[in-house]
Parts: sequence; C-alpha cells; structure tokens
Amino acid sequence: MDRDRLLKLFFELVQIYSPTGKEGGVADYITTYISGLSNVSIMIDDAGESFGGECGNLIVTFSVNNDAHAPLALLSHMDTAQPCHGIIPKIDDDGRIYSQSDTVLGADDKAGVAMMLLLLSEVEKRPQDFGNIEFVFTVGEEKNLLGSKALDISRLRAKYGLVLDSNGPIGSMITSAPYAVNLKLKLKGRPAHAGIEPEKGISALTIAAKGVLKAPLGRLSPITTSNFGRIAGGHATNIVMEEVEIEGEARSLEKAELDRTVGEIKASFRDAADQMGGVAHIQVEESFPGYQISEDTPLVKLMSRVISDHGLAPSCRSSGGGSDASILNSRGIPCLNLGVAFHNPHSKDEYIMLEDISILYDILRDVIQII
Ligand SMILES: [Zn+2]
Repeated sequence: MDRDRLLKLFFELVQIYSPTGKEGGVADYITTYISGLSNVSIMIDDAGESFGGECGNLIVTFSVNNDAHAPLALLSHMDTAQPCHGIIPKIDDDGRIYSQSDTVLGADDKAGVAMMLLLLSEVEKRPQDFGNIEFVFTVGEEKNLLGSKALDISRLRAKYGLVLDSNGPIGSMITSAPYAVNLKLKLKGRPAHAGIEPEKGISALTIAAKGVLKAPLGRLSPITTSNFGRIAGGHATNIVMEEVEIEGEARSLEKAELDRTVGEIKASFRDAADQMGGVAHIQVEESFPGYQISEDTPLVKLMSRVISDHGLAPSCRSSGGGSDASILNSRGIPCLNLGVAFHNPHSKDEYIMLEDISILYDILRDVIQII
C-alpha cells in the first residue's frame, strides 16, 4: 500500500478546521478529491440543517457496480472534538503521529476519512474487483450523532456497514453498544428569606441532595452506568433555593436494565420531593439506541477471517459509548464499529501510529473485495 499517500491525506485532513457544525472545509476537500476520479457520484444530504451545521452528510458511490457482491457502507465522520484549531501534525521516527500544537490530533475521525479516500482511489482503478461500496462521510457525530440520525437511510443500498471510529486496537470490533438516555430534572421547592423565616421555605437543593443520595449512580453493573454531570440553581445566599436543575444520563447494554435504572432514579427524586413537600419534573430523552450483533453474523466472521489473515487477533467487544454504528443498527443495517487504535482521543495527548492505520487500510481493502 501507499503509506506516504495515506499519511499525506491524513495530514491535509487534520489541518482543516472542522469542529461539529463546521465540516464544510472537509466536505470541500472530499468533493475536490472525488472530482479527480471517474465513475464516481456524490450526494450531499441536508442533515446539517437539523442542527445548524454548514453542510450535510456525503454519500459517495460508483456507477460501475459488481452485483456479485453484497452492498456495504463504509462510514467515518468529518467533525472533530475541540480544541481543533490550528492542528500541526508531526510524525516521529517510530511512526507516532501527534499534534505539535495545543490541540487534539483529530485522528478521531480523520484517520477513517483518510483511509476511505485512499480506498476510493483503489476501487476506481479496478471497480470490477470490488463490491458495491457506499462511502458515507457524516457530520455532527461528536454532537450526539446528529448527522447520522438525520441520514436518510433509504438512500443507501447497503446490507451491512463498517464504521471506522472506535478507539480499540486494530482487529477489534464493537459488536455491542449501549442504549443511552439523557435525564433532565427540575426540582421545585419554595423560596423564603433564609435569615428571617427559613421555616417557610422548601429547599430545592435539599430535594436534589436527597434524591441523588438515594438514586442508583455510577457503575451499577458490568453493563449499566448512570451519572449526573450538571447542576444549576439558586439566586442569592439569603433565599431558600426555590428551584434547581440537574442533568444526567444512564446507559446500559440491555434496554430492560436501562428502563429499570431510569425508573429507580425517577422514584428516588419523586420520593425526595414528596417527603419535602416539593415537586420533581423529570424528562427522559433517548440519547442513542444500543445494539448487539451476534458473533455468528457473516460480517463478523468475514472480518475475523481477514483480520487473522493479516496476523492480528480479531476480538469482539462491547463499548460504553455510541457511534454512527448505533444509528445504522437501529435502522436495520447491521453495522460494526471497528477499532482504529486512536490513543487518548478527545485530548491534547491524542496520537495514532502510522503502522496501525496502514494495517487497517489493508484489511479494509481486502474485506471490500471479498464481501
Ligand atoms: Zn469519533
């Protein structure tokens, strides 16, 4: 494979500023790249409009198709976590790629984008050897998967999908990911002058505190977690707090266990509010759907075989997080999220090894020929 080309593409991509909602520069880069290829068409949807972004998801397909193969979608996302302005990529003698500036590297997920662009060139050279591959570049992944949520799945022919966006090692596949909900609680008490007649007040903060102490929080089981991560309320030190808002989340690999946990959290706050004479308003919204894919699925078997052929150990794993794979799975396209071996993603210590993405590229090139 052409490592220098992969590295060049990656370096150029990470230098394009593209936080969530500002993926236009990357979309232009991809569009320009594709304009140099033949028999390729590009469709841009209006997913960006759903969250005020600059552009939509890009779906790139070939007009020359080989119907002997199952249609497959490859996905990566164009947005990067912050801070991502002025990324200066460097590679050291060991092939470790990092950002010299005070930013993330953006390997999550520009490594996936770079691999897909190089694969596009490979397919263009001899389309008859490859399956019907749909290359999908999404927006808004880092903002609760908003891009893939707005993706019109009916535009895809894919029977399977591979998402290039897990921080696991090369050879790992995310075969199960959690169901997740966001929790918004508004706890209402009654205000009173804290120095003159505190007896007349009901402290919303005390309701919240009692609820938090009783609610199941943290690591609840090997497959279930919950957390409150934001709190806001109160006006002045001399007023018994009238209202407090707390926001949190719960996740589980099992939908039933998630529902039970959410029920217990709600009951904890309702009990606390009842006890104090206050009110608890509780809003629960799906954050993203979960999925479980059997290790017997043909796609998992095929991936495992090709990974082994490249001298690596295939592994099926569960994730604590969502990805574009969560959305495709929920819409009926079985989809794996593959380990791209990002190290310390979403931090200024992020790095990736050229060796790792080169091997993954080779694995993908083989998989899309076989499927
Ligand atoms: Zn990512």
